[in-house]
Amino acid sequence: MNSYFFKSALLPEGWQNNVRVEVDQGKYQQIEVGAKPQPRDQQLTVVIPQMPNIHSHVFQRAMAGLSEYRANASDDFWSWRDLMYRLANEMDESQLYQTARNCYHEMKQTGYSSVCEFHYLHRQKQQPEDYLTHAKVILQAAHDVGLTITLLPVLYAYAGVGEQPLSPSQRRFELSVAEYLDLLDNLQGCLQDGQQLGVCFHSLRAVSVAQMHEVLANTPNDWPVHIHIAEQQAEVQALIEHTGKRPVEFLYSEFDVNKRWCLVHATHLNDSEIRLIADSGAVAGLCPLTEANLGDGIFPMPAFMQQSGRFGIGSDSHIEINPAGELKMLEYSQRLALLQRNVCCDGQQPNVGSWLWLQAVAGGTQISNQAVGGVAVGQQADIILLQSEQPMNAEQMLDAYVFSDHVKAKSISLK
Ligand SMILES: [Zn+2]
Repeated sequence: MNSYFFKSALLPEGWQNNVRVEVDQGKYQQIEVGAKPQPRDQQLTVVIPQMPNIHSHVFQRAMAGLSEYRANASDDFWSWRDLMYRLANEMDESQLYQTARNCYHEMKQTGYSSVCEFHYLHRQKQQPEDYLTHAKVILQAAHDVGLTITLLPVLYAYAGVGEQPLSPSQRRFELSVAEYLDLLDNLQGCLQDGQQLGVCFHSLRAVSVAQMHEVLANTPNDWPVHIHIAEQQAEVQALIEHTGKRPVEFLYSEFDVNKRWCLVHATHLNDSEIRLIADSGAVAGLCPLTEANLGDGIFPMPAFMQQSGRFGIGSDSHIEINPAGELKMLEYSQRLALLQRNVCCDGQQPNVGSWLWLQAVAGGTQISNQAVGGVAVGQQADIILLQSEQPMNAEQMLDAYVFSDHVKAKSISLK
């Protein structure tokens, strides 16, 4: 057992001073607020918890920054997706391992406590009948750098709404429901030290309602369920044309959506969809830097906050790997759209950095199914130590960490 004394620490209930913690095997065993430092304590000044990363397509890190040129006058999400498919179809097992290992290492360095890996590059380049190896490679890469992972193998069956057949460039993503359940079965025997599995549907474009029901009926009912929900207006329109309903509306009419669900890119919502998500306790999976990079749209944060909606953040395409940067982008997108300042906060927590950080840790923990909930007994003792040469209190230091660049941050896993 090792002990530490934090002068200020961001606990789930807010900032506390003089926090003494005991840690064993990387988890908090005891926490005392308003404590006195003991001689054997290691003393740290301003401490925040690391951040769960709720959405990752790890292979896409290999193209970060390489699609920032105009290839045709109407470049958008869909033309980016064509480039991304070219990358996916080139990647082999060893490239996937190296990319994942490097990317997960960067996540650890920049303050992510864990990752939910939304994995759909199933089939091997050389042996397309093998859909197990890549999932194992990803688990191994996370294990090798010591990053906590919830692997979300993705069911991907169709190219578009109405069960359109996959294009040749989507073949490596394809699984039948039987293959999908077989993959999950196999992976349960491959999990190392706390690795978890979850259920994942690519989108309402890529799977049918019947397939989703079949998977949900044949998987544990305490696993998280992730799905891309409403990233692009074109997919919202396609679903309306096919079903008469918008994506969130349609999902809730077909499934019992609850706290297990993470609705990734819940970008395009109307007021009743915002209420549906908030009331169900599901988590909106926001990826502000990727959503900005791809021109997706702006999440309706004020209305969602008003309904006490929950959210987590993900680095998705890994255009940048920086949890503070994701939160800054989330707040700045609101400021630009609303012509206001300090949007993501409330009367209880007026400091935007603290409000965003705590909300994103809580929402992220809920749909990771991992003990990554911050400075609390039983949770992983992964912290970020903040340091500044200017005199400022802890709240100001976290705000300055999110919004400015003169606060130094160091990610530490306490032993
Ligand atoms: Zn995604």
